[in-house]
Amino acid sequence: MSGKEDLWNEIPSHAWISLARSGMEKISLDQCFLKGCDNQDIKLLLPLEKEEIENDDKHIKIISIECKKCSGIFKLKFETIKKVARPINSNNDEDALSMGIVYAMDEDDNNLGHIGYF
Ligand SMILES: [Zn+2]
Repeated sequence: MSGKEDLWNEIPSHAWISLARSGMEKISLDQCFLKGCDNQDIKLLLPLEKEEIENDDKHIKIISIECKKCSGIFKLKFETIKKVARPINSNNDEDALSMGIVYAMDEDDNNLGHIGYF
């Protein structure tokens, strides 16, 4: 299977993790999210394909990436909420601007967890 390097243009280089009391922390998306793999070398990651789903209130983009280090495939799922509202329990303007959420999934679409915001 040949990769599609230009899919990197579709992937933000970073996401933001919300820390309870100390603001936001930046995390690189140029890494393998599969369990037991510590690959953080973008040269060992190969984007394979993109899938997009559009509905009334969400735009979902899923990009499959092959890791050359563990030979696994994972997916980054970018979910953008179209109607952005500030959470009812928050007075923080930053929360209202958190429009996109990124998740990691394995090859079989099992959720590996919420990574952060983009
Ligand atoms: Zn890996």
